[in-house]
Amino acid sequence: MTLRGAKSCTSGVQPATVWLRQSRQSSFRADVPFYNAGVQELTEVFHAFAVRAAPRTAAALILCTLLSSLAQGTDLSTLSSKVWNHGSPDCASNRDPAIEVFRFDPATYILRQNKCLHFEAPFIYVLFGEHTVFIQDTGATADAERFPLYETVRSLITERSAGLPGEELKLLVTHSHGHGDHVAADGQFRGKPGVTLVEPSAQEVRRHFGFENWPEGEAKIDLGGRELIVMPAPGHQEASIAVYDAATGWLLTGDSLYPGRLYVDDWRMYKASVERLVAFAKARPVSAVMGTHIEMSRVPGQQFPAGSSFQPDEAPLALKVEDLMQLDQGLRKAGDDPETIGTDHFVVTPVGALQRMISRIVKFFSRQPR
Ligand SMILES: [Zn+2]
Ligand SMILES: [Zn+2]
Repeated sequence: MTLRGAKSCTSGVQPATVWLRQSRQSSFRADVPFYNAGVQELTEVFHAFAVRAAPRTAAALILCTLLSSLAQGTDLSTLSSKVWNHGSPDCASNRDPAIEVFRFDPATYILRQNKCLHFEAPFIYVLFGEHTVFIQDTGATADAERFPLYETVRSLITERSAGLPGEELKLLVTHSHGHGDHVAADGQFRGKPGVTLVEPSAQEVRRHFGFENWPEGEAKIDLGGRELIVMPAPGHQEASIAVYDAATGWLLTGDSLYPGRLYVDDWRMYKASVERLVAFAKARPVSAVMGTHIEMSRVPGQQFPAGSSFQPDEAPLALKVEDLMQLDQGLRKAGDDPETIGTDHFVVTPVGALQRMISRIVKFFSRQPR
């Protein structure tokens, strides 16, 4: 299990010291926008009507946009209290599904890979628009038998489309970045009807989104009544991007920022990327910062050991804009010299030249057919 995982983000990197800090008692729940069940239900009903009954009309677009903006106030507190499947002390006895499916709202899903299938247990985002489904990342396991990601997405599409007229939804598959624990099941999507798969190399990402001045600039993705903004965010990895979804207010940050160990490969690039994300978050309503792993416990500053296949009492997946600001401040304070930055909710861990070399050696010797 560990060797297989060596192809992924944390490969060959030793776990940092466990930080035990005084709690600041900060709480995501305390700051989340209000929950308005009525708005959520109305959004569901009218969005379904607008999408299915009149997909091409301007009125439908306006209605969807209006309701999407209202939906920003939906239940983010569910994210802070959500207990994800988190592996087992004895994985042989683990009976959790390979993929946990969490429906945030009728058009927004978060999937998590079973920690006993792969300790990285990455999160995958599935966002529905009127004509396109956006999928960020394909997980850490290629094998469709053990990790049926494509089939899971198809079943979500079938469920959403049930009994409703309309054309088949297209699929757009992109990646938060190119590490092995986020691209492994690409082969399940490649070549399938209606699927556009953006290959995870930095070159392909630039070409597909038309970034002529990488890492500057923004690109837009139109899902139909739902728009995403894509931003370059290299530093953790050269092809890293961030994605903003105006419908939820989520800023998807991949491995650049999540509740865990943030490995920084290119310090200067990473600093600049975080600065740009902060500027973006100041200009837009960001309700939550959504990454792709959990490696911290609910005890502030406490990490689970690297490679854990059992993580009881995990920290919430969603971080706040304040965490992004804190990351930026920590990086500014560190200046041009990479250093470890420990906080209650994440730990920045520079990947030194020696660690990079060890990582590459481990990767070389741990290659396995997928
Ligand atoms: Zn990574
Ligand atoms: Zn990762």
